Amino acid sequence: MMINDEPARTIGILKKYDLMPRKKFGQNFLIDAHVIEKIIDAAQIGEDDCVLEIGPGIGTMTRYLCDRAAHVIAVEIDRDLVKILKEDILKDKENLTIINEDILKVDVEELVRKKNDGRPIKVVANLPYYITTPIIMGLFEKHVPMESLTLMVQKEVASRMCAKPGTKDYGALTVAVSYYSECYLAANVPSNCFMPRPDVMSAVVRLSVLRNPPVSVKDPDRMFSIVKAAFGQRRKTLQNALMSAQGIACTKEDVAKALESMGLSALARGEVLSLEQFARISDIL
Ligand code: SAM
Repeated sequence: MMINDEPARTIGILKKYDLMPRKKFGQNFLIDAHVIEKIIDAAQIGEDDCVLEIGPGIGTMTRYLCDRAAHVIAVEIDRDLVKILKEDILKDKENLTIINEDILKVDVEELVRKKNDGRPIKVVANLPYYITTPIIMGLFEKHVPMESLTLMVQKEVASRMCAKPGTKDYGALTVAVSYYSECYLAANVPSNCFMPRPDVMSAVVRLSVLRNPPVSVKDPDRMFSIVKAAFGQRRKTLQNALMSAQGIACTKEDVAKALESMGLSALARGEVLSLEQFARISDIL
């Protein structure tokens, strides 16, 4: 059986450098080697792959990634951790580029062009939970060439990503994720696999990026404005939610007519519409 020496290693590093995990950066370090293996297996990393790791922390998963991939780009916001990674923990990794930056400010597309000749990369991360959605949506909306994203996220967010229409977890994030990718729940992860333990349960999801969207829609931006308005006031009927939303410019009657032409009740709420139905109503309106 594999020995998990990550807890002792993590305690050793925190002591050696007198580090206190920073809550404001969502620092919950993974200390379970089995979970790391699961993430890397779910990501299907091969020796030709270029991997982007968001938030390497103290480099626990980065070491495993460097052993499997052709190249790893690690973007970390915490200057103190970057110094330790470069000068000590990961100094012998020749296939690694460490960048000290806020991932939300990095031009990832440019990075992919430089480091992987513009070919799709694989994103792997134990994400800082306070910015999960902006990170994922930023990568999708900027059309960064990616094959997949394998991510540790809050369990509740994983459920939202993989939800079905009409369920309580189904929302704007579900619709966006299913427009760009196929979602697969790879593992549930309890909080004792992290140091310090987060207050929430976690899960690993793999988002396999689709080459083409699964639905055709004339104006995707307009569709996403409709989705946002629909779930911004999810207890309202779609008629009421869209009528009062800015930038959509349609009347109650327009929405009722569109819904009925699609075989839906004029009083339907947005939460019952599938991605396909959001695409259709966007085209009709
Ligand atoms: N990968 C490490 C692990 O699994 O142990 C650390 C994961 S920890 C949940 C999240 C990491 O993301 C931290 O190292 C944190 O400093 C970093 N981080 C937080 N916000 C960031 C941002 N905006 N850009 C880049 N890294 C960020």
